[in-house]
Amino acid sequence: MIDIEAIRTQFPILSREVNGKPLCYLDNGASAQKPQAVLDTIQRAYGYEYANVHRGLHTLSTISTENYEAVRGTVARFLNAPSEDHIIFTSGTTEAMNLISYGWAAPRMQAGDEIVLSIMEHHANIVPWHFLRERLGVKLVWVETDLNGDLDPQAVLDAVTDRTKLIAITHVSNVLGTVVDVKAICDGARARGVAVCVDGSQAAVHMPVDVADIGCDFYAVTGHKLYGPSGSGAVFIRPERMAEMVPFIGGGDMIRDVHRDTVTWNDPPHKFEAGTPGIVQTIGLGTALEWMMDVGMDDIQAHEADLTAYCRDRLEGLNWLNVQGKSATKAAIFSFTIDGAAHAHDISTVLDKKGVAVRAGQHCAQPLMEHMGLTATCRASFGVYNTRAEVDTLVDALELCHDLFA
Ligand code: PLP
Repeated sequence: MIDIEAIRTQFPILSREVNGKPLCYLDNGASAQKPQAVLDTIQRAYGYEYANVHRGLHTLSTISTENYEAVRGTVARFLNAPSEDHIIFTSGTTEAMNLISYGWAAPRMQAGDEIVLSIMEHHANIVPWHFLRERLGVKLVWVETDLNGDLDPQAVLDAVTDRTKLIAITHVSNVLGTVVDVKAICDGARARGVAVCVDGSQAAVHMPVDVADIGCDFYAVTGHKLYGPSGSGAVFIRPERMAEMVPFIGGGDMIRDVHRDTVTWNDPPHKFEAGTPGIVQTIGLGTALEWMMDVGMDDIQAHEADLTAYCRDRLEGLNWLNVQGKSATKAAIFSFTIDGAAHAHDISTVLDKKGVAVRAGQHCAQPLMEHMGLTATCRASFGVYNTRAEVDTLVDALELCHDLFA
Protein backbone atom coordinates (compact mmCIF):
# COMPACT_ATOMS: atom_id res chain seq x y z
CA MET A 1 0.00 0.00 0.00
CA ILE A 2 0.98 3.61 -0.51
CA ASP A 3 2.76 5.57 2.21
CA ILE A 4 0.71 8.68 1.65
CA GLU A 5 2.80 10.98 3.87
CA ALA A 6 5.96 9.93 2.05
CA ILE A 7 4.21 10.69 -1.25
CA ARG A 8 2.94 14.09 -0.08
CA THR A 9 6.38 15.29 1.02
CA GLN A 10 7.56 14.79 -2.56
CA PHE A 11 5.18 17.53 -3.78
CA PRO A 12 6.52 20.88 -2.53
CA ILE A 13 3.34 22.75 -3.46
CA LEU A 14 1.25 20.65 -1.08
CA SER A 15 2.93 22.28 1.91
CA ARG A 16 1.76 25.78 0.99
CA GLU A 17 -1.29 27.61 2.21
CA VAL A 18 -4.01 29.23 0.11
CA ASN A 19 -6.06 32.02 1.68
CA GLY A 20 -4.52 31.21 5.04
CA LYS A 21 -5.60 27.54 4.88
CA PRO A 22 -3.59 24.41 4.03
CA LEU A 23 -3.94 23.74 0.31
CA CYS A 24 -6.48 21.01 -0.41
CA TYR A 25 -5.85 20.43 -4.10
CA LEU A 26 -8.80 18.67 -5.73
CA ASP A 27 -8.38 19.97 -9.29
CA ASN A 28 -6.27 17.08 -10.53
CA GLY A 29 -8.62 16.42 -13.44
CA ALA A 30 -7.60 19.80 -14.85
CA SER A 31 -3.90 19.37 -14.08
CA ALA A 32 -1.91 17.48 -11.47
CA GLN A 33 0.88 18.83 -9.26
CA LYS A 34 4.50 17.81 -9.89
CA PRO A 35 6.75 15.72 -7.63
CA GLN A 36 10.27 16.88 -6.76
CA ALA A 37 11.71 14.25 -9.12
CA VAL A 38 10.06 15.98 -12.08
CA LEU A 39 11.13 19.44 -10.87
CA ASP A 40 14.72 18.16 -10.50
CA THR A 41 14.67 16.68 -14.00
CA ILE A 42 13.48 19.97 -15.50
CA GLN A 43 16.17 21.88 -13.58
CA ARG A 44 18.90 19.46 -14.68
CA ALA A 45 17.72 19.32 -18.29
CA TYR A 46 17.75 23.12 -18.66
CA GLY A 47 20.63 23.79 -16.24
CA TYR A 48 23.22 21.20 -17.30
CA GLU A 49 22.14 19.13 -20.27
CA TYR A 50 20.27 21.43 -22.61
CA ALA A 51 20.67 21.54 -26.38
CA ASN A 52 18.38 20.93 -29.34
CA VAL A 53 17.66 17.31 -30.19
CA HIS A 54 18.36 15.26 -33.33
CA ARG A 55 20.40 18.06 -34.93
CA GLY A 56 23.79 18.48 -33.35
CA LEU A 57 26.79 16.20 -33.19
CA HIS A 58 28.15 17.92 -30.11
CA THR A 59 28.04 16.32 -26.65
CA LEU A 60 25.13 18.26 -25.19
CA SER A 61 22.95 17.61 -28.22
CA THR A 62 23.73 13.91 -27.95
CA ILE A 63 22.84 13.86 -24.23
CA SER A 64 19.67 15.82 -24.84
CA THR A 65 18.65 13.57 -27.74
CA GLU A 66 19.33 10.41 -25.72
CA ASN A 67 17.32 11.68 -22.74
CA TYR A 68 14.48 12.77 -24.99
CA GLU A 69 14.35 9.59 -27.10
CA ALA A 70 14.56 7.37 -24.00
CA VAL A 71 11.11 8.66 -23.00
CA ARG A 72 9.58 6.87 -25.99
CA GLY A 73 10.49 3.56 -24.35
CA THR A 74 9.17 4.80 -20.99
CA VAL A 75 5.81 5.72 -22.54
CA ALA A 76 5.69 2.35 -24.32
CA ARG A 77 6.31 0.59 -20.99
CA PHE A 78 3.74 2.76 -19.20
CA LEU A 79 1.06 1.90 -21.79
CA ASN A 80 2.34 -1.64 -22.47
CA ALA A 81 2.76 -0.78 -26.15
CA PRO A 82 4.63 -3.50 -28.07
CA SER A 83 7.33 -1.09 -29.26
CA GLU A 84 8.55 2.46 -28.67
CA ASP A 85 8.19 2.99 -32.44
CA HIS A 86 4.43 3.02 -31.90
CA ILE A 87 4.68 6.14 -29.71
CA ILE A 88 4.44 9.66 -31.12
CA PHE A 89 5.20 12.62 -28.87
CA THR A 90 2.65 15.41 -28.79
CA SER A 91 2.03 18.54 -26.76
CA GLY A 92 -0.97 16.80 -25.19
CA THR A 93 -4.20 15.06 -26.08
CA THR A 94 -5.53 18.01 -28.05
CA GLU A 95 -2.62 17.76 -30.49
CA ALA A 96 -2.96 13.97 -30.60
CA MET A 97 -6.61 14.14 -31.65
CA ASN A 98 -5.83 16.75 -34.31
CA LEU A 99 -2.95 14.59 -35.56
CA ILE A 100 -5.31 11.63 -35.91
CA SER A 101 -8.01 13.76 -37.50
CA TYR A 102 -5.73 15.39 -40.09
CA GLY A 103 -3.19 12.60 -40.49
CA TRP A 104 -5.34 9.48 -40.49
CA ALA A 105 -9.06 10.29 -40.70
CA ALA A 106 -9.27 13.16 -43.21
CA PRO A 107 -7.54 11.38 -46.12
CA ARG A 108 -9.69 8.27 -45.57
CA MET A 109 -13.13 9.80 -45.13
CA GLN A 110 -15.72 11.26 -47.42
CA ALA A 111 -19.19 12.79 -47.19
CA GLY A 112 -21.61 10.45 -45.44
CA ASP A 113 -18.94 8.49 -43.54
CA GLU A 114 -19.60 8.31 -39.82
CA ILE A 115 -17.70 8.79 -36.57
CA VAL A 116 -19.28 7.41 -33.40
CA LEU A 117 -18.72 9.43 -30.21
CA SER A 118 -20.02 9.24 -26.68
CA ILE A 119 -21.95 12.20 -25.31
CA MET A 120 -19.38 12.62 -22.53
CA GLU A 121 -16.36 13.39 -24.72
CA HIS A 122 -14.09 16.31 -23.90
CA HIS A 123 -14.03 19.01 -26.60
CA ALA A 124 -10.53 17.79 -27.54
CA ASN A 125 -12.17 14.57 -28.71
CA ILE A 126 -15.08 16.36 -30.42
CA VAL A 127 -13.85 19.45 -32.23
CA PRO A 128 -11.24 17.71 -34.45
CA TRP A 129 -14.10 15.49 -35.71
CA HIS A 130 -16.33 18.54 -36.22
CA PHE A 131 -13.62 19.80 -38.58
CA LEU A 132 -14.29 16.70 -40.71
CA ARG A 133 -18.04 17.27 -40.48
CA GLU A 134 -17.64 20.86 -41.67
CA ARG A 135 -15.02 20.23 -44.34
CA LEU A 136 -15.89 16.78 -45.66
CA GLY A 137 -19.53 16.20 -44.71
CA VAL A 138 -18.69 13.43 -42.22
CA LYS A 139 -21.57 12.60 -39.88
CA LEU A 140 -21.08 12.58 -36.09
CA VAL A 141 -23.16 9.90 -34.36
CA TRP A 142 -23.67 10.38 -30.60
CA VAL A 143 -24.22 7.65 -28.02
CA GLU A 144 -25.74 8.72 -24.71
CA THR A 145 -24.98 7.56 -21.18
CA ASP A 146 -27.65 6.14 -18.88
CA LEU A 147 -28.93 7.89 -15.74
CA ASN A 148 -25.95 6.68 -13.70
CA GLY A 149 -23.56 8.07 -16.29
CA ASP A 150 -22.60 4.59 -17.48
CA LEU A 151 -21.96 3.95 -21.15
CA ASP A 152 -23.11 0.59 -22.48
CA PRO A 153 -20.39 -0.73 -24.85
CA GLN A 154 -23.08 -2.55 -26.81
CA ALA A 155 -24.90 0.76 -27.42
CA VAL A 156 -21.68 2.12 -28.92
CA LEU A 157 -21.33 -0.93 -31.17
CA ASP A 158 -25.02 -0.76 -32.12
CA ALA A 159 -24.39 2.77 -33.43
CA VAL A 160 -21.87 1.37 -35.95
CA THR A 161 -23.10 1.16 -39.55
CA ASP A 162 -21.36 0.23 -42.76
CA ARG A 163 -20.42 3.93 -43.08
CA THR A 164 -18.66 4.05 -39.69
CA LYS A 165 -14.93 4.65 -40.02
CA LEU A 166 -14.01 5.49 -36.46
CA ILE A 167 -15.17 5.27 -32.86
CA ALA A 168 -13.71 8.12 -30.77
CA ILE A 169 -14.24 7.41 -27.11
CA THR A 170 -12.95 8.46 -23.73
CA HIS A 171 -11.59 5.85 -21.32
CA VAL A 172 -12.69 7.88 -18.28
CA SER A 173 -15.09 10.83 -18.30
CA ASN A 174 -13.49 14.05 -17.03
CA VAL A 175 -16.87 15.13 -15.63
CA LEU A 176 -18.54 11.98 -14.28
CA GLY A 177 -15.55 9.74 -13.60
CA THR A 178 -17.28 6.97 -15.57
CA VAL A 179 -14.86 4.25 -16.64
CA VAL A 180 -15.74 3.05 -20.14
CA ASP A 181 -15.21 -0.58 -21.12
CA VAL A 182 -13.01 0.37 -24.05
CA LYS A 183 -11.74 -3.20 -24.44
CA ALA A 184 -15.28 -4.45 -25.18
CA ILE A 185 -15.73 -1.59 -27.65
CA CYS A 186 -12.41 -2.37 -29.36
CA ASP A 187 -13.23 -6.10 -29.57
CA GLY A 188 -16.56 -5.38 -31.24
CA ALA A 189 -15.15 -2.64 -33.46
CA ARG A 190 -12.34 -4.87 -34.72
CA ALA A 191 -14.86 -7.53 -35.74
CA ARG A 192 -16.63 -4.82 -37.77
CA GLY A 193 -13.41 -3.39 -39.27
CA VAL A 194 -13.79 -0.05 -37.48
CA ALA A 195 -10.85 1.80 -35.87
CA VAL A 196 -11.05 3.02 -32.27
CA CYS A 197 -9.40 6.14 -30.91
CA VAL A 198 -9.31 6.21 -27.11
CA ASP A 199 -8.87 9.42 -25.14
CA GLY A 200 -6.82 8.27 -22.16
CA SER A 201 -6.30 11.74 -20.66
CA GLN A 202 -8.16 10.98 -17.46
CA ALA A 203 -7.70 7.21 -17.28
CA ALA A 204 -3.93 6.86 -17.39
CA VAL A 205 -3.45 8.77 -14.14
CA HIS A 206 -5.87 6.62 -12.16
CA MET A 207 -5.26 3.03 -13.35
CA PRO A 208 -2.80 0.79 -15.19
CA VAL A 209 -3.34 1.04 -18.94
CA ASP A 210 -2.52 -1.81 -21.30
CA VAL A 211 -3.05 -0.82 -24.92
CA ALA A 212 -2.12 -4.32 -26.11
CA ASP A 213 -4.93 -5.77 -24.01
CA ILE A 214 -7.41 -3.01 -24.88
CA GLY A 215 -6.73 -3.55 -28.58
CA CYS A 216 -7.24 0.09 -29.58
CA ASP A 217 -5.85 1.75 -32.70
CA PHE A 218 -4.99 5.04 -31.00
CA TYR A 219 -4.53 5.88 -27.30
CA ALA A 220 -3.72 9.46 -26.27
CA VAL A 221 -2.31 10.71 -22.97
CA THR A 222 -1.44 14.21 -21.79
CA GLY A 223 1.59 14.82 -19.58
CA HIS A 224 0.35 17.55 -17.26
CA LYS A 225 -2.37 15.28 -15.85
CA LEU A 226 0.22 12.56 -15.22
CA TYR A 227 2.26 14.60 -12.71
CA GLY A 228 4.43 15.76 -15.63
CA PRO A 229 5.01 19.09 -17.39
CA SER A 230 2.37 20.88 -19.43
CA GLY A 231 3.04 20.85 -23.17
CA SER A 232 4.01 17.16 -23.09
CA GLY A 233 2.07 14.11 -24.17
CA ALA A 234 2.08 11.04 -26.34
CA VAL A 235 -0.15 8.89 -28.47
CA PHE A 236 0.13 5.18 -29.09
CA ILE A 237 -0.69 4.35 -32.70
CA ARG A 238 -1.10 0.81 -33.98
CA PRO A 239 1.52 0.27 -36.73
CA GLU A 240 -1.11 -0.55 -39.40
CA ARG A 241 -2.79 2.81 -38.69
CA MET A 242 0.55 4.65 -38.62
CA ALA A 243 1.35 3.22 -42.05
CA GLU A 244 -1.91 4.72 -43.33
CA MET A 245 -1.18 8.21 -41.99
CA VAL A 246 0.00 11.27 -43.84
CA PRO A 247 2.07 13.90 -42.04
CA PHE A 248 0.10 16.53 -40.15
CA ILE A 249 2.54 19.37 -39.42
CA GLY A 250 5.39 19.99 -41.86
CA GLY A 251 8.85 21.34 -41.04
CA GLY A 252 12.24 20.28 -39.78
CA ASP A 253 12.89 16.81 -38.36
CA MET A 254 9.92 15.11 -40.06
CA ILE A 255 11.67 15.09 -43.44
CA ARG A 256 14.46 13.05 -45.00
CA ASP A 257 15.14 15.27 -48.02
CA VAL A 258 13.79 18.60 -49.16
CA HIS A 259 14.52 19.90 -52.67
CA ARG A 260 12.99 22.63 -54.82
CA ASP A 261 10.41 20.30 -56.34
CA THR A 262 10.31 17.27 -54.04
CA VAL A 263 10.23 16.30 -50.42
CA THR A 264 10.56 12.89 -48.77
CA TRP A 265 9.53 12.05 -45.24
CA ASN A 266 11.52 10.78 -42.29
CA ASP A 267 10.61 7.34 -40.95
CA PRO A 268 7.77 7.08 -38.41
CA PRO A 269 7.45 8.10 -35.63
CA HIS A 270 9.60 11.14 -36.55
CA LYS A 271 7.54 11.67 -39.70
CA PHE A 272 4.76 12.92 -37.41
CA GLU A 273 6.88 15.16 -35.18
CA ALA A 274 7.84 18.41 -36.89
CA GLY A 275 10.02 21.23 -35.59
CA THR A 276 11.81 21.60 -32.28
CA PRO A 277 9.69 19.60 -29.85
CA GLY A 278 8.97 20.19 -26.19
CA ILE A 279 12.36 18.73 -25.30
CA VAL A 280 12.46 19.36 -21.57
CA GLN A 281 8.71 18.84 -21.20
CA THR A 282 9.03 15.38 -22.74
CA ILE A 283 12.08 14.51 -20.62
CA GLY A 284 10.06 15.63 -17.58
CA LEU A 285 7.16 13.45 -18.72
CA GLY A 286 9.53 10.48 -18.73
CA THR A 287 10.44 11.15 -15.09
CA ALA A 288 6.75 11.55 -14.16
CA LEU A 289 5.86 8.20 -15.71
CA GLU A 290 8.84 6.48 -14.05
CA TRP A 291 7.71 8.06 -10.77
CA MET A 292 4.17 6.71 -11.18
CA MET A 293 5.44 3.25 -12.10
CA ASP A 294 7.76 3.31 -9.05
CA VAL A 295 4.83 4.16 -6.78
CA GLY A 296 2.96 1.37 -8.57
CA MET A 297 -0.07 1.81 -10.77
CA ASP A 298 -1.98 -0.92 -8.92
CA ASP A 299 -1.31 0.80 -5.60
CA ILE A 300 -2.34 4.17 -7.04
CA GLN A 301 -5.57 2.60 -8.28
CA ALA A 302 -6.23 0.94 -4.89
CA HIS A 303 -5.57 4.16 -2.95
CA GLU A 304 -7.89 6.14 -5.21
CA ALA A 305 -10.59 3.45 -5.04
CA ASP A 306 -10.55 3.92 -1.26
CA LEU A 307 -10.80 7.71 -1.66
CA THR A 308 -13.63 7.31 -4.18
CA ALA A 309 -15.64 5.05 -1.87
CA TYR A 310 -15.07 7.35 1.11
CA CYS A 311 -15.94 10.48 -0.87
CA ARG A 312 -19.05 8.82 -2.32
CA ASP A 313 -20.25 7.94 1.19
CA ARG A 314 -19.59 11.40 2.59
CA LEU A 315 -21.24 13.22 -0.33
CA GLU A 316 -24.26 10.90 -0.24
CA GLY A 317 -24.76 12.11 3.34
CA LEU A 318 -25.47 15.63 2.05
CA ASN A 319 -29.08 15.44 0.94
CA TRP A 320 -28.93 18.91 -0.68
CA LEU A 321 -25.99 17.96 -2.91
CA ASN A 322 -26.59 16.50 -6.37
CA VAL A 323 -23.71 14.33 -7.53
CA GLN A 324 -23.66 13.73 -11.29
CA GLY A 325 -22.40 10.33 -12.33
CA LYS A 326 -23.18 7.46 -10.01
CA SER A 327 -21.41 4.67 -11.84
CA ALA A 328 -20.44 1.84 -9.48
CA THR A 329 -16.95 1.72 -10.97
CA LYS A 330 -16.20 5.39 -11.33
CA ALA A 331 -12.73 6.93 -10.99
CA ALA A 332 -12.04 9.56 -8.31
CA ILE A 333 -13.87 12.41 -10.07
CA PHE A 334 -17.01 13.97 -8.51
CA SER A 335 -19.13 16.62 -10.23
CA PHE A 336 -21.92 18.20 -8.23
CA THR A 337 -24.38 21.03 -7.84
CA ILE A 338 -26.11 22.32 -4.71
CA ASP A 339 -29.88 22.61 -4.44
CA GLY A 340 -30.96 26.24 -4.44
CA ALA A 341 -29.46 29.29 -6.05
CA ALA A 342 -25.73 28.75 -5.73
CA HIS A 343 -23.91 28.73 -9.05
CA ALA A 344 -20.91 26.43 -9.47
CA HIS A 345 -18.65 29.50 -9.67
CA ASP A 346 -19.96 30.76 -6.30
CA ILE A 347 -19.40 27.35 -4.71
CA SER A 348 -15.89 27.17 -6.09
CA THR A 349 -15.12 30.68 -4.77
CA VAL A 350 -16.27 29.77 -1.26
CA LEU A 351 -14.30 26.52 -1.36
CA ASP A 352 -11.22 28.45 -2.43
CA LYS A 353 -11.52 30.64 0.68
CA LYS A 354 -11.17 27.41 2.64
CA GLY A 355 -8.09 26.40 0.65
CA VAL A 356 -10.01 23.84 -1.43
CA ALA A 357 -9.22 23.98 -5.17
CA VAL A 358 -11.94 22.56 -7.45
CA ARG A 359 -12.96 23.27 -11.03
CA ALA A 360 -16.26 24.96 -11.89
CA GLY A 361 -17.94 25.32 -15.26
CA GLN A 362 -18.68 23.13 -18.26
CA HIS A 363 -15.40 21.19 -18.09
CA CYS A 364 -14.96 21.37 -21.89
CA ALA A 365 -17.86 18.90 -22.19
CA GLN A 366 -20.79 20.93 -23.43
CA PRO A 367 -22.70 18.09 -25.13
CA LEU A 368 -22.69 16.20 -21.80
CA MET A 369 -23.83 19.28 -19.88
CA GLU A 370 -26.70 19.73 -22.36
CA HIS A 371 -27.55 16.03 -22.01
CA MET A 372 -27.70 16.46 -18.21
CA GLY A 373 -29.68 19.71 -18.49
CA LEU A 374 -27.03 21.68 -16.63
CA THR A 375 -25.04 24.80 -17.42
CA ALA A 376 -22.25 24.23 -14.91
CA THR A 377 -21.05 21.94 -12.14
CA CYS A 378 -18.28 21.94 -9.58
CA ARG A 379 -15.79 19.12 -9.91
CA ALA A 380 -13.55 17.66 -7.21
CA SER A 381 -11.00 15.34 -8.78
CA PHE A 382 -8.49 13.39 -6.71
CA GLY A 383 -4.91 12.30 -7.25
CA VAL A 384 -2.43 9.96 -5.62
CA TYR A 385 -1.51 12.48 -2.88
CA ASN A 386 -5.05 13.17 -1.69
CA THR A 387 -6.32 11.83 1.62
CA ARG A 388 -9.56 10.98 3.40
CA ALA A 389 -8.91 14.05 5.60
CA GLU A 390 -9.10 16.18 2.46
CA VAL A 391 -12.47 14.62 1.62
CA ASP A 392 -13.58 15.78 5.08
CA THR A 393 -12.22 19.28 4.37
CA LEU A 394 -14.23 19.33 1.13
CA VAL A 395 -17.40 18.25 2.92
CA ASP A 396 -16.94 20.88 5.68
CA ALA A 397 -16.49 23.59 3.04
CA LEU A 398 -19.56 22.36 1.13
CA GLU A 399 -21.61 22.54 4.33
CA LEU A 400 -20.52 26.15 4.68
CA CYS A 401 -21.67 26.78 1.07
CA HIS A 402 -25.00 25.23 1.85
CA ASP A 403 -25.41 27.43 4.94
CA LEU A 404 -24.52 30.52 2.90
CA PHE A 405 -26.54 29.90 -0.24
CA ALA A 406 -29.40 27.54 0.43
N1 PLP B 1 -9.62 14.71 -22.92
C1 PLP B 1 -9.99 14.72 -21.64
C2 PLP B 1 -10.91 13.63 -21.14
C3 PLP B 1 -9.54 15.73 -20.78
O1 PLP B 1 -9.94 15.73 -19.50
C4 PLP B 1 -8.68 16.73 -21.30
C5 PLP B 1 -8.21 17.82 -20.44
O2 PLP B 1 -8.93 18.34 -19.60
C6 PLP B 1 -8.31 16.66 -22.64
C7 PLP B 1 -8.80 15.64 -23.42
C8 PLP B 1 -7.41 17.68 -23.26
O3 PLP B 1 -6.12 17.56 -22.79
P1 PLP B 1 -5.05 18.68 -23.13
O4 PLP B 1 -5.71 20.01 -22.90
O5 PLP B 1 -3.95 18.43 -22.19
O6 PLP B 1 -4.66 18.52 -24.55
